[in-house]
Amino acid sequence: MNVSDSVVRTLHQLLLQIADIKSQIERGPRQIKAAQLQVDTSKDFLQKCRDSIKQKKMEADRKQLQLREREGKIHDWEGKMNSATNNREFQAIKEQIAADTQANNVLSDEILETLEEIDALQIASKDAEEKLKIVEADKVKVDSAVAERLATLHRELARVEGNLAAEETALPADFLVDYKRLVTNRAEDAMAALDDVSCGGCYTGLTPRILDKLRMGQPFLCSSCGRLLYRPEK
Ligand SMILES: [Zn+2]
Repeated sequence: MNVSDSVVRTLHQLLLQIADIKSQIERGPRQIKAAQLQVDTSKDFLQKCRDSIKQKKMEADRKQLQLREREGKIHDWEGKMNSATNNREFQAIKEQIAADTQANNVLSDEILETLEEIDALQIASKDAEEKLKIVEADKVKVDSAVAERLATLHRELARVEGNLAAEETALPADFLVDYKRLVTNRAEDAMAALDDVSCGGCYTGLTPRILDKLRMGQPFLCSSCGRLLYRPEK
């Protein structure tokens, strides 16, 4: 191959830089998505709290109405008790009042329990509101930080791609064909630095003949993985 391995090393370094910048660029949208998920989860939780409060309040109202209706009935029974004409009738009314009073005691306890549940939900709802404010503020920060970072990364990518293009323009025609074929298929994985006496890409041991050529600064294709080999920087 009519090119020195220091040229291949430079090309590989540029290709590695490009790959690194591209992977950093891909991370941006993932960070935004993660922040958005936090916002969505907090909103959902807050909505669930609010829905539960609404439902519990309706339940408490319904039970309070039921309680008042039964109190009215008890009041009516008490009126009838005075006008009872015999003892049996009197006893029956008395038992009815006792039963309704007992039912209302149970209902009172239930109402109290529901009101306590509403109190707890209101505290949870307030906490959820605070949490939502925090994650929404975080989302805004992440959005602007990512936008800023992406702008920098795109500028950096353009710069390194420019450097690579400049290096490629200087390549001899015969090498360029092999290089383009390799890089089109494997990008930064098309090349590997020599790792002592092995291919730095697949760790296959190299023959003394190939090692000699590499030591003389001639890049060589690994016969096992096909990567273009070059000497690492000293
Ligand atoms: Zn190899």
